[in-house]
Amino acid sequence: MTGLMQGKRGLIMGVANDHSIAWGIAQAVAAQGAELAFSYQGEAFGRRVKPLADSVNAKLLLPCDVEDLSTVDQMFETIKAEWGEIDFLVHAIGFSDRNELKGLYADTSRDNFTRTMVISCFSFTEVAKRAAALMSGEGSLLTLTYGGATRSMPNYNVMGVAKAALEASVRYLAADYGPRGIRVNAISAGPVRTLAGAGIADARAMFAWQQRNSPLRRSVTIEDVGNSGLYLLSDLSRSVTGEIHFVDSGYSTTSMPCLEQLKQ
Ligand code: NAD
Repeated sequence: MTGLMQGKRGLIMGVANDHSIAWGIAQAVAAQGAELAFSYQGEAFGRRVKPLADSVNAKLLLPCDVEDLSTVDQMFETIKAEWGEIDFLVHAIGFSDRNELKGLYADTSRDNFTRTMVISCFSFTEVAKRAAALMSGEGSLLTLTYGGATRSMPNYNVMGVAKAALEASVRYLAADYGPRGIRVNAISAGPVRTLAGAGIADARAMFAWQQRNSPLRRSVTIEDVGNSGLYLLSDLSRSVTGEIHFVDSGYSTTSMPCLEQLKQ
């Protein structure tokens, strides 16, 4: 099947390098004919994203730090001037102080709680509102979450709380924009080795645990997430909104970890 995204234009936020989940999604939709714009956080990331954007013929490469709302507004003004309208948005952005992605959640500081919430949760609402303003017909908005939103995980701490709020935002935004034909969904991805993922203490051990204890007994790749992203951004999922779609080798569906290792 080719051309699923032919004629559609969209903004990809959150590519840091070629290991980024956002890059997996960008490649999947570009292969199906989508025209893409990319945002990047600061010049150092911009230099890494430029060749990736070039490789999928993306002409728009825009700076945007979601902590600075003026850069968000500037980015959407440029997109409006260049394209007029967009069809989809990918928000693959998360941040928390790595000193608090270890130890007890109870030790989270007020400053980092607020910052984590603004960057990892509320920025989706802010960009969704601006993207929806550029959608006159049907559209699709997609963000990224993790199983630590609904069940506690070691070290994920305040990110889990922010992801829980992000998942609730998905449902509220789906209700807000549904009457206009704009869909809002999230992918809950299993652990992927990325820059952000490496910030969580014991990431390697958590990665191995999930790999060993998920029904499919394998980890998730950015291609896997990319293909599910393609489904949620394309008309294949035209009646799907407000959903948290798990791409985690089935880990979230089982409460009994694999017994094989205990029997050895
Ligand atoms: P990544 O490091 O490749 O991407 C994170 C992105 O967030 C980077 O591009 C970074 O520039 C951006 N970002 C952080 N603060 C920002 C700010 N203030 N303004 C603009 N951009 C900012 O890592 P990733 O794992 O691909 O993360 C993408 C999303 O996927 C995140 O929301 C993450 O929580 C989520 N996620 C990751 C995993 C995993 O295991 N890696 C699992 C589930 C969900």
